Amino acid sequence: MQNLLTLMIIVEPDRQRLARFVMDAVEALNANTFSAASTLEGSLRRLREDCARVRTPVEVSLDLDELTLRLSWGERQEPLALLSQPPATDKIAALASELKNASESADSALLKRRNEQIIADLEEAKRRARIEMEEFETLLEMKKNELNTSILAAQTDALTGLYNRSGYDTRLREAFLRCKHQGEQLCLMLLDLDKFKEVNDTHGHQYGDEYLKAMANAMRASVREHVDHACRMGGDEFAIILYSDMSIARRVAGKILGLIDHKSSIGIAQMQEIDSIEKLVGRADAALYEAKHQGRGRFVVDGNLELIAKAV
Ligand code: GH3
Ligand code: MG
Repeated sequence: MQNLLTLMIIVEPDRQRLARFVMDAVEALNANTFSAASTLEGSLRRLREDCARVRTPVEVSLDLDELTLRLSWGERQEPLALLSQPPATDKIAALASELKNASESADSALLKRRNEQIIADLEEAKRRARIEMEEFETLLEMKKNELNTSILAAQTDALTGLYNRSGYDTRLREAFLRCKHQGEQLCLMLLDLDKFKEVNDTHGHQYGDEYLKAMANAMRASVREHVDHACRMGGDEFAIILYSDMSIARRVAGKILGLIDHKSSIGIAQMQEIDSIEKLVGRADAALYEAKHQGRGRFVVDGNLELIAKAV
């Protein structure tokens, strides 16, 4: 098989040049020009479709395979003409060189069209990439929102809408580290409803649930929204993480007790410089225990702090 010509096809004028070279070869080889022209028409149509589909330059070869003049690109093999007898070798070489020279001569109008086509293709690719990027970003935003919603749901107590135990653990850890780093004030308040078992036993579980919701509302109403964190630890146990000092914590505890007719005991501890989360929780818990011990319906602040305050 002998190659007569290889051309890169990008734009329509490339296909027109190819057609011209092919017909020159058909004539030079004394093949039937009429039948070759009509076969070539179908080949060029398929070539145009393939170029539009792949959107990259397509390499096309014109070969003489014994007596068959054939055009081929990609997977395609397109016979164009059948010669009656094999041409002389020097004739084929001369034809190949003539076609090569002709195809390599620069055509400024064609180069300009090619450049324009390449720029247009790049612009189109950029436009599509931008649209895809926007779609990805929208999708990403949706997924982020879904994730945030499910994280929030996993950290929320279904009955009261307060943070649940898991939410409390996360918020307390965050608050503790932040306040320690920034040297800010932090108080932990633990609350436990008084004789809640009796409330349930006397008025029923449904009433008990409403009671728990009322407690949650009293807590929400007494702290700063989006700053402090009100939590339900489980059962009738609650907690508040307060970004403030003890004087404000006392005021908050007093307000809650007022709103719920002093039906809860409260223990408060303030974070100290050399503190751990466990120690802070331990002191708030001890203060709560003391509030129960002293007769319920009141708040007690961490004993250590009271001693420190007295010493000053
Ligand atoms: P104390 O003053 O010592 O805290 O007494 P108490 O009766 O409150 O004792 P305790 O804190 O041990 O009782 C908690 C009760 O809370 C027991 C349980 O029946 C009730 N409880 C726990 N979870 C729920 C709930 O989701 N809904 C209702 N209605 N009751 C609950
Ligand atoms: Mg209780």
